[in-house]
Amino acid sequence: MTEFLSNAPLGRCCTFLTGGRADKLAFCYKTEELIAAASEGALVLGRGSNILVGDLGYRGFVAVNRTGDKLFGPDHCECDSGLLISALAREYARQGRTGLEWAYGLPGSIGGAVMGNAGAFGGCIADVAEKLYVYVDGKMRIMTAEECGFGYRSSNIRGTVVRVKLRAPEGDPAEINAACERNFTLRRQSQPIGASAGCVFKAADGVPAGQLIEQAGLKGLVCGGAEISPKHANFIVNRGGALSGDVLQLMNTAAAAVYDKFGVKLEREIKLYGDFC
Ligand SMILES: Cc1cc2nc3c(=O)[nH]c(=O)nc-3n(C[C@H](O)[C@H](O)[C@H](O)COP(=O)(O)OP(=O)(O)OC[C@H]3O[C@@H](n4cnc5c(N)ncnc54)[C@H](O)[C@@H]3O)c2cc1C
Repeated sequence: MTEFLSNAPLGRCCTFLTGGRADKLAFCYKTEELIAAASEGALVLGRGSNILVGDLGYRGFVAVNRTGDKLFGPDHCECDSGLLISALAREYARQGRTGLEWAYGLPGSIGGAVMGNAGAFGGCIADVAEKLYVYVDGKMRIMTAEECGFGYRSSNIRGTVVRVKLRAPEGDPAEINAACERNFTLRRQSQPIGASAGCVFKAADGVPAGQLIEQAGLKGLVCGGAEISPKHANFIVNRGGALSGDVLQLMNTAAAAVYDKFGVKLEREIKLYGDFC
């Protein structure tokens, strides 16, 4: 049975490790619990690796999706939306299935990945998504990938993604494992260690936002406990004790500096929830 928490801290539910409290919080381990929470109008989160929650918290119900069943068929995999995508990518590699090599080491859930069409190293979830089971307007709807309107780090999905069917064809195990290793190494080499939510801004007309922020001279800029990473300028890292307000201020400073210098309006990749000071 779902356990509900009142006035619960959200910092431990997101990878920035910042933010205030939710009026009501539940961890959903079963599909029925997730659907029940969604039908109560909960804000559904996966691993919280693409969000920033305001320091004054979230006035409402937050459901953290921890569902995680998966079932492989001959050329596909059907899985719960709460499953960690990097765990699934590992399982693909173990079974010699191809299609998720790019996701090896990515910290989000399958649900979060399809909502924002997560991707890296030339791949994205839209490449393998076949069918989605989405709870919306009080009923379960089956959506084809075409109906999801996948774009660059975007989709037009409304409601709660409950279960996903992904293509999982067999490939060359040696090639798959090599690609996973290569991608994991590239992540380690290019991304900072520490609490963050990955890339803060989307690329602007194909130009990496990190390149623009770096050229604006903002690498290493600190606000409170947050810092624009000296390693990757599109990452803001919580160096310890950061407030969401510190992160937001750095985001605003970076966007303003890039606009002033290059006339480019950066679009945020991470989503903001709750009340900020
Ligand atoms: C170190 C690091 C590296 C990263 N690298 C990449 C990368 O290479 N490529 C990339 O694309 N992203 C990257 N990210 C960002 C993030 O991991 C992805 O966007 C991920 O797919 C988000 O999944 P999540 O479960 O954490 O979503 P959350 O942050 O929990 O949620 C994101 C949004 O999706 C919604 N949502 C989540 N689950 C559901 C659901 N089941 N139904 C409906 N809505 C839902 C939430 O309400 C919210 O609006 C990185 C993040 C970190 C911290």
